[in-house]
Amino acid sequence: EPRPTPLPPPSAEGVEECVFRHIRAPHRDTLDGYRATGGYRALDRMLGSGSPDELLDLIDASGLAGRGGAGFPTGRKWRAVRDADGGPKTVVCNADEGEPGCFKDRVLMDYDPHAVIEGMLLAAFATGATRGFIYLRYEYPETADVLAHALDEARGAGYLGRGVDIHLRRGAGAYICGEETSLLNSLEGEHPFPRNRPPYPVTHGYLQTPTVVNNVETLASIPPIVTEGAAWYRGLGFGDQAGTKVVSLSGDVERPGNYEVPLGLPLATLLHDWAGGGRGGRRIQAVTMAGLSGGFLAGDDLDVTLDEPSIRAKKSFLGAGGVMVFDESRDMVEVALDAMRFFAHESCGKCFPCRIGTRRLVERLSGEAGPREVESWIDELSDLHRTMKSTSACGLGQAAPLVTESLIRYFPERVRTLVEARR
Ligand code: SF4
Repeated sequence: EPRPTPLPPPSAEGVEECVFRHIRAPHRDTLDGYRATGGYRALDRMLGSGSPDELLDLIDASGLAGRGGAGFPTGRKWRAVRDADGGPKTVVCNADEGEPGCFKDRVLMDYDPHAVIEGMLLAAFATGATRGFIYLRYEYPETADVLAHALDEARGAGYLGRGVDIHLRRGAGAYICGEETSLLNSLEGEHPFPRNRPPYPVTHGYLQTPTVVNNVETLASIPPIVTEGAAWYRGLGFGDQAGTKVVSLSGDVERPGNYEVPLGLPLATLLHDWAGGGRGGRRIQAVTMAGLSGGFLAGDDLDVTLDEPSIRAKKSFLGAGGVMVFDESRDMVEVALDAMRFFAHESCGKCFPCRIGTRRLVERLSGEAGPREVESWIDELSDLHRTMKSTSACGLGQAAPLVTESLIRYFPERVRTLVEARR
């Protein structure tokens, strides 16, 4: 049965040069629609007259870094897999988009599935991989249909099945599977605990073979980089920043949605000029970064620019690009409590600093337990934060304390009323 064509994303007005500028083209999600706007030209060119070395040099020169959160240079990761002994080598597309408030990979896969497939095939060409997996978030069943259809089309056209094939696998709803080593365990049918590192997936990934794990957005960026060139991609960012990033903006803002922004764009420009400011004209009190994992930015720190160095200077990080907006009507302790409940629920339980630490923080934010003097409350939380950051085995336990740290930093008066209410 023919699949209904999805509605286009909202308004294409004002779109300037960017990586995903064809995403609204008619039938872009079909093989014909994708080819009509230049799709598979990058792969054809590389398979025809290119070489893995040329592609690796190009990706290095573009400055592309992982768009799933860790920001590791893509070219370096690919080289490490290409140079690793053993095989067969594997390309994994991390489509387990679980960062709260982040919905950009879903849109990329729904509207541009062949760009993800072409990106994976180019990654396989550069690294020598012969098998591929798309590990898709369980909660995206419609996207599974879109991808399965696109994979069939690509197989029918001969892009898959001759040397490289790509298989679709669905997760089972665990947030931790977005962490690449948990994802690999899950792919292998094992319990999805994060693995100890080293060794890294580039040498000991899927079934202990060299494996590239890249995020959806990273892979979908590869074909335009090959067709337009490394200098073009680099030049899309502001200043020293290379390229663009899709930011998922949600919450108390007039025009929520996915925005492809030049890296280095001021957050205030995104919030006020592009997204219309706080909903109903209300003042924006705070935003979260990296979904919830980067904690809050508020006050003068809302003048940050959207790139990792600037955001890290404010003790946060951009992550996969989920930004949630909270206006002045929100109680930030309630927001922090919801966030910490999420982390406590999703903690996989492998290591105790995270398993117990997130629960202790929930108890303190809800007022169930903890010191009754503000200074001791803050001291105790500082201890918990230090322990969790330095001894948790993966990013979940290391990042969860940023929520309470930033709450204390930006909203000391609200923290005081919370603790005093316990007396
Ligand atoms: Fe699991 Fe948390 Fe430890 Fe990560 S930090 S391994 S999520 S318990």
